[in-house]
Amino acid sequence: MSLHQRTLRFRETYRAAISPRYSGLLHGGFVFGVGLSVIGYCLIHVPALEWRLAIAFIAATLIFNVGEYIAHRELGHKKRRFAKLFYSRHSGDHHTFFSHEDYLIDTIRDLRVVLFPAPLLLAVTFIFAAPLGWFIAQVFGTGSGWVMAASIIFNYLLYEFIHLYNHLPDHYSITRWPVIRQMREYHRLHHHPDNATRYNFNITYPITDWVLGTRL
Ligand SMILES: [Zn+2]
Ligand SMILES: [Zn+2]
Repeated sequence: MSLHQRTLRFRETYRAAISPRYSGLLHGGFVFGVGLSVIGYCLIHVPALEWRLAIAFIAATLIFNVGEYIAHRELGHKKRRFAKLFYSRHSGDHHTFFSHEDYLIDTIRDLRVVLFPAPLLLAVTFIFAAPLGWFIAQVFGTGSGWVMAASIIFNYLLYEFIHLYNHLPDHYSITRWPVIRQMREYHRLHHHPDNATRYNFNITYPITDWVLGTRL
């Protein structure tokens, strides 16, 4: 059976198992609606604009970039006892649903296999962004703490947004913008079965891939 046939067969089974109550629009609406609200909530608590807020934003972006890389490479593509679900959703579902030959969604219900489950946003907010923001606030001041938390969530939404447009059909005009075309190709190469466990683990910016030499 060819890779294309295998992908089509898996898509049929996967789609048949999605609950009829699932709504791609609600899923996306929840992630971006709640995510943007959390960012807004954090930013209105910033007492004053100061130069070190920019440092907090850059630091959050780099922390997220390394985290995105490690989670993708070490949990998404390696089976670990404590993260079996993440592995099966990523290596099992996402990479079987999309190969480098068939990497585009067909309907909005396919968002189910592109976006992270909605509760993960809440987990990242309360288990990661909030404690990290609190810690930064103690050391570098209240404003830096709120900006750190807001920037982690901003990067999370950026991940979801970029990953979504990486898998959008070609007729969306955004997919033809030069930088976006490049990023789509970058991610498409990751979906080649020979590359998936070896190259292009970053989704937002290919910084950690570049540093570690895993960039194609
Ligand atoms: Zn993908
Ligand atoms: Zn992957």
